[in-house]
Amino acid sequence: MKKKDPGRWREIHDRLFAVYGELGCPLVHRTPFQLLAAVMLSAQCRDERVNAVTVELFRRWPDPAAMAEADPDEVAKVIQCCGLFHNKSRNLVACARQLMQDHNGTVPQTMAELTRLAGIGRKSANVILGNAFGLPGFPVDTHVIRVTNRLGMVATREPEKIEAVVNAAIPPELWCNFSHLVITHGRRVCHARKPACGDCVLRDLCPAREA
Ligand code: SF4
Repeated sequence: MKKKDPGRWREIHDRLFAVYGELGCPLVHRTPFQLLAAVMLSAQCRDERVNAVTVELFRRWPDPAAMAEADPDEVAKVIQCCGLFHNKSRNLVACARQLMQDHNGTVPQTMAELTRLAGIGRKSANVILGNAFGLPGFPVDTHVIRVTNRLGMVATREPEKIEAVVNAAIPPELWCNFSHLVITHGRRVCHARKPACGDCVLRDLCPAREA
């Protein structure tokens, strides 16, 4: 098996697409800033919980101008059920201040600029690029790491290396939805503890399939 075989990656994409189709971002947002905030909150927190919390968060601080003026302790009270809330509230306010000072209150559209913002790493930046702006971005999360390794398509747990392999194998316009597809497959079928290989459309391609 060739790990970087583009045809094989495309086959995996096409089979997952046939099952799940075009998937939108599960984090509820109306603007790029709101997606940025929701992504920040989603670290070690389920999307459903983030979506419940952001109703009040965005009511009180809907944009960078409002968030830049917020008291981080007040923000922390609103997001406290998301975990790591002290760090997240500090980063939210610091990031909004950077947006106001350096980007006229808008969210930048490049990896280099996004990853200079407080609390934004490469995965979050890829989520924002792909989902807020329709630009190429392949976010690598724990599901992507697990599923691509089980499939034998990569042999590394380093997100940047996995991202680079996918970027070389799949057309840029597919990156964002392909990430959604793999994440969804990881959540619904290729579970961390007990993968449902009998229900998996990729089982004949997968060296890790269970009987
Ligand atoms: S066959 Fe099993 S281990 Fe392989 S991708 Fe499918 S669910 Fe995961």
